[in-house]
Amino acid sequence: MTVYTSILHINRPEFIEEHFPTINRRCLDLGIDMSREPIPVVPAAHYTCGGVMINQDGQSDISGLYAIGETSCSGLHGANRMASNSLLECVVFAHAASEAIRQSLAAIEYAWANCLNGMRAA
Ligand SMILES: Cc1cc2nc3c(=O)[nH]c(=O)nc-3n(C[C@H](O)[C@H](O)[C@H](O)COP(=O)(O)OP(=O)(O)OC[C@H]3O[C@@H](n4cnc5c(N)ncnc54)[C@H](O)[C@@H]3O)c2cc1C
Repeated sequence: MTVYTSILHINRPEFIEEHFPTINRRCLDLGIDMSREPIPVVPAAHYTCGGVMINQDGQSDISGLYAIGETSCSGLHGANRMASNSLLECVVFAHAASEAIRQSLAAIEYAWANCLNGMRAA
């Protein structure tokens, strides 16, 4: 069974080109003129809930392993994705993870410098 979506009720090709230029061109490439005929559609995964459990810094329970975006499970979405928050989540957690990594590197450099100083003093 083929399922279709249709925009035929808007009987203005210029509206379609103005509002959906990319979809329109892709459909035309596939031989579908959405101003004249319905568009066949198929189901697709829009978002995957789950993944590597992380904290608010994007850090997993494996030291040094960070995960962000759809590969992670931040808890932000609960059991189902909150609409249009996925891209925002990527940006927010990317920033938080980069800050956490920067701080942990600074702590390692500080500890390493102390270690070297201790060795020199011994
Ligand atoms: C049709 C659709 C519509 C959507 N609309 C919205 C929306 O309106 N608003 C919204 O917030 N979210 C939307 N989303 C969800 C959002 O796009 C995703 O949650 C988000 O892009 C995930 O980002 P990501 O960086 O985690 O993963 P991705 O964007 O999938 O990036 C993963 C990258 O890793 C690359 N990769 C994979 N395997 C390897 C490998 N082995 N080596 C190197 N690279 C690799 C891939 O090529 C890809 O570039 C939509 C998703 C879909 C499918």
